[in-house]
Amino acid sequence: MLYLSTRNNKIEKKPSEAVLEGIAKDGGLYMPKSFEGVDFPMDQLSKMTNKEISAQVIALLFKGDKMLEDEKGELEGAYKLVSKAYDGKFDNEDFAPLSKVADAYVMELYHGPTCAFKDVALQLLPQLVSASKKATGMKDEIVILTATSGDTGSAALSGFSNVDGVKIIVFYPRNGVSAVQERQMVSVDGKNTCVCSVGGNFDDAQSGVKSIFANLKLPQGVQLSSANSINIGRLAPQVAYYFKAYRDLMANGEIKMGDKVNFIVPTGNFGDILAGYFAKKMGLPVGQLVCASNTNKVLTDFFEEGVYNKNREFYLTKSPSMDILISSNLERLLYLVCGSERCASYMKQLKENGEYKLTEKELATIRKEFDAGFCDDIETLKTIKDVYEKEGYLMDTHTAVAWNVYEKWLKKTGDKNKTVVLSTASPYKFSSSVMNALGKEYDGEFDAVNKLYEYTKAKIPSSLVNIESKAIVHNVTVEKDEMQDFVDKMVNKKVWMD
Ligand SMILES: *Cc1c(COP(=O)(O)O)cnc(C)c1O
Repeated sequence: MLYLSTRNNKIEKKPSEAVLEGIAKDGGLYMPKSFEGVDFPMDQLSKMTNKEISAQVIALLFKGDKMLEDEKGELEGAYKLVSKAYDGKFDNEDFAPLSKVADAYVMELYHGPTCAFKDVALQLLPQLVSASKKATGMKDEIVILTATSGDTGSAALSGFSNVDGVKIIVFYPRNGVSAVQERQMVSVDGKNTCVCSVGGNFDDAQSGVKSIFANLKLPQGVQLSSANSINIGRLAPQVAYYFKAYRDLMANGEIKMGDKVNFIVPTGNFGDILAGYFAKKMGLPVGQLVCASNTNKVLTDFFEEGVYNKNREFYLTKSPSMDILISSNLERLLYLVCGSERCASYMKQLKENGEYKLTEKELATIRKEFDAGFCDDIETLKTIKDVYEKEGYLMDTHTAVAWNVYEKWLKKTGDKNKTVVLSTASPYKFSSSVMNALGKEYDGEFDAVNKLYEYTKAKIPSSLVNIESKAIVHNVTVEKDEMQDFVDKMVNKKVWMD
């Protein structure tokens, strides 16, 4: 398998090169050259374990790359990487259990070490990076540079902590993440980790990181890379759980082989839902993929009107991990629908004018596979309360956005296929909002975790038990114009922590 840039289909890279680079030199994202010959063996699905499904997906998407080399073949090579990534890391034996709620299924993707779905990808990405370094013979040290609004930072730190040949620096907005998210990050004690708050908001931190990528002169033997979902090594691991959900629905007798299943996905950067589209391209019988947004509904408008317009007000919502106006991975869908030339032109218009418009034909092609909807904060909190009271099922704010959109979508379409709603965070990760939704009192965010337990008796994820007593090992802070100097100092420093 070779990978091409979404903006220039003449740039060809091996999977390991694409994983190490993260983003193509022309600013495009890496995409498989073709989905031909990457058919998932559906006839074996019902007998496969979770790890076998993940290994199969990786072996297909990264076929022929030295990173999968193993004396027993590439599938076994992939299986070893998957085992290293997942064994003993998830609270639940099944890393993506399905729960039946009303007539749908909720797929809980939050049983990993930091309680958000990003763990599924960010536990495996470090293994793919290490294997890619070996495969390409790269000797340089890789420094992962990440700006986070909360979930990515802790999941990336957890995944990359103490991985050989890699260091990681995470910047987060000083007053822009929750107390739980902050403590998750500043208590990670891997010797190769560095966590730093920035005086500014998430966009300041993100712009700072982008400018460092463009401007920082690195010492010999050091390369920067990214843990964001623009990296194909982060997208690929997510494809597996769509197959897994299908296997479980067959096992429950809800569907038989060949039946179509819909997926409703709470969306920010469009990575998670795009993984579902990859699964469809690889042969999974997917009905509709429904993109659920919060008040930052740039994607809902896009799917309705064919116009992507980021020139609009930005809202801070109760589902902060979806507060985003530029959904990077949408570029990969555009590439599949319009080809690299038009894709490059749309991305240029987005950069210059903040806007682009699809042709009617392009929009119609996309609408055959995707639908979209949104819900605001009031609806989000009401959904948490209603579902808890009617169904006895507790969900976080991001999942509630998806559930609300599911109900509206079902009413609109009357669709009869089985539907899976993706749940992307533990309700405990956003305890204060969930407590507000349930109309309950608490004193500060850590107290909200304990009170939520007292009220619901839902199991607290092990990593959040006594989170407030976890020792703080990182306490650096910089102003936004000091970020580059800070990274410069760090990349020149051999030992970070004793
Ligand atoms: C990152 C995140 C999302 C959005 O996922 P994308 O792949 O960026 O669309 C949704 N929910 C939670 C809890 C997240 O952390």
